[in-house]
Amino acid sequence: MTVVDREQIEGLRAIRAFLNVRTSYDVLPLSYRLIVFDTALLVKKSLNILIQCGIVSAPLWDSKTSTFAGLLTVSDYINVIQYYWQNPDALAQIDQFKLNSLREVERAIGVNTIETVSIHPLRPLYEACTRMLQSRARRIPLVDVDDETQREMVVSLVTQYRILKFVSVNVKETQMLKKPLRDLHVGSYSNLAIAHMETPVMDVIHMLVKKNISCVPILDSQGTVLNVFEAVDVIALIKGGDYEKLNLSAAKALELRSEDFPGIYTCTINDRLDTIFDTIRKSRVHRLVIIDEAKQLKGVLSLSDILDYTLNSSLGDDGSQ
Ligand code: ADP
Repeated sequence: MTVVDREQIEGLRAIRAFLNVRTSYDVLPLSYRLIVFDTALLVKKSLNILIQCGIVSAPLWDSKTSTFAGLLTVSDYINVIQYYWQNPDALAQIDQFKLNSLREVERAIGVNTIETVSIHPLRPLYEACTRMLQSRARRIPLVDVDDETQREMVVSLVTQYRILKFVSVNVKETQMLKKPLRDLHVGSYSNLAIAHMETPVMDVIHMLVKKNISCVPILDSQGTVLNVFEAVDVIALIKGGDYEKLNLSAAKALELRSEDFPGIYTCTINDRLDTIFDTIRKSRVHRLVIIDEAKQLKGVLSLSDILDYTLNSSLGDDGSQ
């Protein structure tokens, strides 16, 4: 085993130990806001609120039963889009959809229902990570029980990004992760879902659903990466309940992005996780597109890939963790 191998293992051990002794509460800032949607809210209004607040998901609250009703995410809007696509004449009905109709929409198009996985904020972060990886959720609501009323209470939510950022700020051993990506089994390199600027955006949305992924790289005819269509981009696309824009090309759809779009992050297979953790610390990155020197697409490194590697990769020759 080389020094680099040994250090890599030491770095991973340090991160795992850290995640075992910290809780989701530790990740939360001292003061934060929590936007919770009542399930009686109209779907189209919820979109405007997300855009105004600059967020992409919100816990749901059923005020009839005073209970937590799951987490509203971009996938739910994508489901509404698919429903519209299958039932284009039902626009008047879709216009009146409330958040509590989403389950029926999901049943109608035969997909999984709203995320209901949650975790107590005092459980170890490691457990929050495992639960997200198992359910493929990118964020998890923190749900506590009020001592007096015994009622559920949504405290906040944590995302994979927040946890990885917390690790990058607090675990100096992330600097020991010096093995290049090419020597690690992390990221996706084959059967990549890709699209071109002229691809209809609806085809891109179908790819997101079919592969349960959150981004599709947009390439030119030579395979050079030009942009990335992200699942969150659908929010701007159907803003205000206008479904006409679903007929646009990927290029036109990307023009609808807000001006403060941070851009896409790339890396190469020669990059190492120490620098990737640096990028996570400094910027709100949601994935890295892996390219070569000629900007040709090589793969996708998602936050779930990084989290999965960090938690689950083998630490020894005997395969033990
Ligand atoms: P996250 O769960 O971090 O939001 P994704 O949903 O994008 O990330 O990724 C889920 C899995 O699918 C990851 O293993 C990732 O490498 C892979 N993946 C992401 N985008 C693509 C794509 N366009 N084509 C094929 N696989 C992808």
